[in-house]
Amino acid sequence: MKYPFFSRRHFIHQLGAAAFMAPAVGSLALQSCQGKSGESKAEEASSETTKTGAERKLGIALVGLGQYSEGELAPALEKTVNCRLAGIVTSTPEKAEKWKKKYNIPDKNVYDYKTFDQIADNPDIDIVYVVLPNSMHAEYTTRAAKAGKHVICEKPMAMNAEECQQMIDACKQANRQLSIGYRLHFEPHNQEMMRLGQKEVFGKVNRIIAHNGQVQDAENLWRLGKGIGGGGPLRDVGIYCLQGAIYTKGQIPIAVSAKLHPVTDPEKFSKVEEGMDFSLYFADGTVAECRTSFNDKYNQLRAEAANGWFELSPAYAYAGLEGKTSKGKMDIENVPQQARQMDAFANCILTNTPTTVPGEMGMRDVQLIEAIFKAAKTGQKVPTKDVLQVMDKSAIPS
Ligand code: NAD
Repeated sequence: MKYPFFSRRHFIHQLGAAAFMAPAVGSLALQSCQGKSGESKAEEASSETTKTGAERKLGIALVGLGQYSEGELAPALEKTVNCRLAGIVTSTPEKAEKWKKKYNIPDKNVYDYKTFDQIADNPDIDIVYVVLPNSMHAEYTTRAAKAGKHVICEKPMAMNAEECQQMIDACKQANRQLSIGYRLHFEPHNQEMMRLGQKEVFGKVNRIIAHNGQVQDAENLWRLGKGIGGGGPLRDVGIYCLQGAIYTKGQIPIAVSAKLHPVTDPEKFSKVEEGMDFSLYFADGTVAECRTSFNDKYNQLRAEAANGWFELSPAYAYAGLEGKTSKGKMDIENVPQQARQMDAFANCILTNTPTTVPGEMGMRDVQLIEAIFKAAKTGQKVPTKDVLQVMDKSAIPS
């Protein structure tokens, strides 16, 4: 499937109609900002803040310039049409210098973690994107909201449901929107899984297989629960299995069970689980069989339904996704996921419409993660009927 070029105005209009969905009816290309000279980009940056309404690109400040910001988000922000990279927050002066030069960021838009709250006085910054280790998400989301900024917070939203609630409350109190960095809700292969599953195109889905694992580098301390902690495969990559199963089935599980993988490297996995199998039980009897690991590679989302099957492999990668169904290959193009995700959120702000991936969805997943850990610890099935009932139903336009 080819993605035709649309103007920014058309893009905003389309997005406003909850039209992220249905790759089968065509999707949207992103206007590239690449190819502009550094000077013209700097001019554009300084004039953006004075523009109003739909003409204005919202300014995003990235907080934490680690692998994901550097490798994915900053390059994606060169492809966005509704927003742009306007500021950075880092405690490393060398990184600040490198980024300032590379992305023409003015000194006044560069903060460290001590000066961060002064971002409140900066009209260039509309959205703060929290891309820090998981244990820091709650603090920086809350501080960003208090500074009067809209927030995108990376997954997992926080370390526990209480933190999630505080983040939601802080954004509500400040009258700012909060979304979670769930890029796959804006990715056409995964949107097709939502459409096929939620609309029961192959009949009732009765089994889902969702596996996501990667071999974790021993140097990545926080992901291994060391240093400031907050890692582990379930929170880091297993969350995609949860997400994939829920948006394919179109329901939230009523119970979970889990079993830890045996530990083969006790030094590396002294603080977090090495891997885990977990099952999600849905009210109609459907079971999602999920697997996650920091010591093995897999990347699959498959649904088996009454009249056929459909699957993605890889399913959760940044690019190169491939889909098949019992009727043949999915003919869907890969697109810049993070650019679509950030443009979608900027559009929600510009058009005052709610995001399809709100803080409440992040909290739902953290509640489920807590239940999965409890199930692994007790060996018992844990009921999850009380988790927040938040669902992305954009696959089925009303
Ligand atoms: P990273 O370790 O590469 O980067 C973390 C950044 O936080 C670094 O720049 C580091 O300097 C900074 N930092 C500030 N204070 C710190 C402290 N006290 N300890 C450690 N680092 C500190 O991590 P990353 O891979 O960029 O991940 C960041 C967040 O983004 C995580 O929440 C992760 O789950 C999420 N992420 C999401 C995706 C996705 O596809 N949505 C992909 C990768 C990462």
